[in-house]
Amino acid sequence: MKTYHYPIRRALALLWALLILLALAGCGPGASAPSESGGGSAAAVVPPPAETRSPSGTAAQPRSSELPPEMPAPETERPAEDESWKLLLVNADHPLPEDFRVELKALRNGHHVDVRVYPELQQMFDDARAQGIYPYINESFRTGERQQAIMDKYIARYEAQGMSRAAAEGKARELVALPGTSEHQLGLALDIIAEYDADSTATWNWLRDNCAKYGFILRYPADKVDVTGISYEPWHFRYVGVEAAKEIMERGICLEEYLGQ
Ligand SMILES: [Zn+2]
Repeated sequence: MKTYHYPIRRALALLWALLILLALAGCGPGASAPSESGGGSAAAVVPPPAETRSPSGTAAQPRSSELPPEMPAPETERPAEDESWKLLLVNADHPLPEDFRVELKALRNGHHVDVRVYPELQQMFDDARAQGIYPYINESFRTGERQQAIMDKYIARYEAQGMSRAAAEGKARELVALPGTSEHQLGLALDIIAEYDADSTATWNWLRDNCAKYGFILRYPADKVDVTGISYEPWHFRYVGVEAAKEIMERGICLEEYLGQ
């Protein structure tokens, strides 16, 4: 529409400017400048485009806000959304960035997740429940302090069993990520179990088969322990976005492999 009308509009604007100049020079038809009420014959038939009207009658050029037709309107130009947060790798070799910040969404049971993950997480749980699967979030976002507290608890447990401090720390590190290297500190990882059943196998199977549709992956598969450095965790799911999740789950790879790490 715009490209079609523009040449006509510009021609009208030029014609209008010419008429005004003629009228001001006193040699136009009737020598009267057209008024807003349409007293002039030309104005009554073909009103000038609003944006070319000028009190002085001399500035009939397009205003600066009028763009050439081949240029897109400003509102259609949007910067691409930065989606790198979805694929941020956190493991023993890639600690959490020091300036890492996350906006959290509080869930009803006291857990927290990255607010950007919440809609798809809710949809995944809604769809699971509709199919008779009742997932329950057992762990979600953790602060570095909480990660340290979990580590300390394990160390204390092993020391109580008679291990030396060093041995207890070594044993704990086999099971608990050091603070700053746990994916749970991203707010993108969830440990999910069955809500009512002591056996979570059906829940884990449903999640494994369906999580990618909602942007989640089974983060520590049984056959990728040598790559992830983490033992098989059928309960641990990580958000990476739908596109990456589908590729990772369909190809049976882990996040490190997807990222070429
Ligand atoms: Zn976990």
